[in-house]
Amino acid sequence: MSMPPPIAAEGTNCEVSADLASLSMLASGGSRVTLTAEKLRLSCKCAHCTRARFDERFPDGFPGIAIVGVADLGYGLNISFSDGHNRGIYPKSYLVHLAEP
Ligand SMILES: [Zn+2]
Repeated sequence: MSMPPPIAAEGTNCEVSADLASLSMLASGGSRVTLTAEKLRLSCKCAHCTRARFDERFPDGFPGIAIVGVADLGYGLNISFSDGHNRGIYPKSYLVHLAEP
């Protein structure tokens, strides 16, 4: 089985793992933070997901979800997921915050 090449957003230190299950990013200070696709999907703050959470119809988990695309907008990353959701923009400070234990 051949794996697709890792997706790297142009001009950033962001990299999606070969299995598409996690994203790593170089944070300020030089440390590398890693986030799983599921954690990112669960943490989406777009209007659609915010509304779904408010209506209590946002899922508790996204088993098997993968990252299929990353676009660097400068202040943040627009991440596309294998469930077709691609509206989430993750400010870089938010990503670092998410990666904290
Ligand atoms: Zn969303």
